[in-house]
Amino acid sequence: MSQHAPQEPQSQASGGTAEESARPLLEVTDLVKSFPLQKGLFSRRETLVKAVDGISLYIQPGETLGLVGESGCGKSTAGKSILRLIEPTSGSIRFEGSEITGLSRTEMRRYRQRMQIIFQDPYSSLNPRMTAEAIVGEPFVINGTSRGRERQQRVASLFERVGLRPDTMGKYPHEFSGGQRQRIGIARALASMPGLIICDEPVSALDVSIQAQVINLLMDLQAEYRMSYLFIAHDLAVVEHISDRIAVMYLGRIVELTDKRTLFTNPLHPYTEALLSAVPIPDPAAGRERRIILRGDVPSPIDPPPGCHFSTRCPEATGVCRVETPVLTERFGGHQVACHLR
Ligand code: SF4
Repeated sequence: MSQHAPQEPQSQASGGTAEESARPLLEVTDLVKSFPLQKGLFSRRETLVKAVDGISLYIQPGETLGLVGESGCGKSTAGKSILRLIEPTSGSIRFEGSEITGLSRTEMRRYRQRMQIIFQDPYSSLNPRMTAEAIVGEPFVINGTSRGRERQQRVASLFERVGLRPDTMGKYPHEFSGGQRQRIGIARALASMPGLIICDEPVSALDVSIQAQVINLLMDLQAEYRMSYLFIAHDLAVVEHISDRIAVMYLGRIVELTDKRTLFTNPLHPYTEALLSAVPIPDPAAGRERRIILRGDVPSPIDPPPGCHFSTRCPEATGVCRVETPVLTERFGGHQVACHLR
């Protein structure tokens, strides 16, 4: 490892006790994020839209949890709520064993370093008036961890680590390609020595060939620094390679959560089955029985269907599905599903 590359997070570098290493890095319980919405143009009445409707998950040190669902299902809102970039309405978020939901801005500062985010659109998330060197070096300025020549060397080291040439550090974001800009975003996140990175659709805006490069880079960095990822995507094929476990989200709720292998070989939720049936497979002749075409779009979170949110599109829906909300329950071996019939 380079002299100036990020070091391992302290709790892991020091070895930690057995209890510490068994403890999840992140524990989210019953997280809700609601937005107030005015009923009509001239109405004073407000209604609450639940973008995230009581999700619970955990991530172990060095683990990647994929979070998958169609556009508008609340997965990005969940990611930003976990980081408190937007304030959660209720629920618990524990990071490295500490509850962070009630912390003040000042108290959150030290956690912000350890919890970073990479956005879908690197162009809009990078300040166009700052050079790449200033962008990547900003965490060192904010945290006061290095200055002058030393900071420059650390930025150069990060550039090399993410596959960028240090002699391009003086350029501005628009002078880089989309893939290179995403590498700048990754280098910036890495500068804070995070324990957790929320990867919010980090490859969705990139060409397929570049997607694989960026995912491989994230996996290499994870192996080196033992970071954890919450990897958000709308496509199961994208999360398959990088994830250890996968949570499937539909209209604000997690409907299935299990390890990657089980999800791909033995999905339980009808929504997961439909998503999986759309994933391209290398040998179509050996392939899946049939493609499941879901009727219609995801319903609006402003007016979600009662009972199971998936009931308006589920080919197996029965009467009870339209009345009672299925609870996410463990079936066996940690495999959780929210369905009355499975
Ligand atoms: Fe389909 Fe009913 Fe299961 Fe919902 S609870 S996924 S509607 S079968």
